[in-house]
Amino acid sequence: MPAEIEAGIKEIIQRNYNVKSFRLEIGDILDFKAGQFLSVCIGGNPKLKKYLSISSSPTEKCYLEFTKKLSESDFSRALDNLKAGDRLTIRYPFGKFILDGFSSKIAFLSGGIGITPIRSICKYIVDKNLGTDAVLVYSNRSVRDIIFKDDFEAMQKNYPLLRVAHVLCETEPGFKCSVGLIDSRIVKNEIPDYRQRKFYLCGPPQMVEAMRKILAEELGLGEEKIVRENFQGY
Ligand SMILES: Cc1cc2nc3c(=O)[nH]c(=O)nc-3n(C[C@H](O)[C@H](O)[C@H](O)COP(=O)(O)OP(=O)(O)OC[C@H]3O[C@@H](n4cnc5c(N)ncnc54)[C@H](O)[C@@H]3O)c2cc1C
Repeated sequence: MPAEIEAGIKEIIQRNYNVKSFRLEIGDILDFKAGQFLSVCIGGNPKLKKYLSISSSPTEKCYLEFTKKLSESDFSRALDNLKAGDRLTIRYPFGKFILDGFSSKIAFLSGGIGITPIRSICKYIVDKNLGTDAVLVYSNRSVRDIIFKDDFEAMQKNYPLLRVAHVLCETEPGFKCSVGLIDSRIVKNEIPDYRQRKFYLCGPPQMVEAMRKILAEELGLGEEKIVRENFQGY
C-alpha cells in the first residue's frame, strides 16, 4: 500500500545541464521495487505535484532518490529552488515497471530522462548480483545529454552481464555510439539475440509507442515480451 511521508532533502546532485537528482532522507525506507515511482508535492500545494520515478535502488538504503528534468514549469522552478534540509511530501510506491523475477535475459530501450527507473533496476541487478543478462540501448541528442553516464560505466565494470549501447543524434569524436534514432536496424545490431529477451521501454509516450511498434510490428515480438513506462507529461 502506498504511504505518504514527509521527507527532508539530504543532497542535490546536478546530473547534466538541466537534470538534477534529489536524495531524500527517510528513516525507514518503505519497501519498494526497483523501477517504481513516487509522487512529489512541494510546499503542500496540490498544484505543485508530479509523478517521478525512483532513480535509486532498494539496495541503496540511506536515501530515496528521484531525478527530474527541469523545465520552465512552476513545479520545476520550485524544485530547482529547493536546498538540502528543505522538506517534501512524497507518496509511494506505485507502478509495475519492475523485474518479473524469472526472465534471465532482458533489454532496455530508453531516451533522455526515461533512464531513471532503468537506472534503479540496473543498480539493483548489479548490487544483488542477480545473474540477469541485461542490454541497455540508450538514446540521447549528444554526449552532454546522457544522464548517469559514469554510474553506468561503473556498473558495467562491476557486472560484465550489463552492456550499454549509446545512440546519439550526431557522431562524437572518440565516443562509441550508433547515430540516428533507435530503429529496428539498431536493435538488431546491438541486441542480436533480441528474440530471447524481455524488453523494458521507458520515455515520453510518443517515443515508447514508436519503440513498441519497432519491436511488435517490425521485429515480431509478442506484446507479453514488452513492458512499458510512459512518462505522461512530456
Ligand atoms: C510514471 C511516471 C514517471 C515519471 N518519471 C519521471 C522522472 O523520473 N523524471 C522526470 O523528469 N519526469 C518524469 N515523469 C514526467 C513528470 O511527471 C512530468 O510530467 C514532467 O517532468 C514534466 O513536468 P514539468 O513540471 O517540467 O513540466 P509541465 O508542467 O508538465 O509543463 C510542460 C512544458 O510546458 C512548459 N511550461 C509549463 N509551465 C510554464 C511556464 N509557466 N512558463 C514557461 N513554460 C512553461 C515547460 O517548460 C514544459 O516543457 C514521469 C511521469 C510519469 C507518469
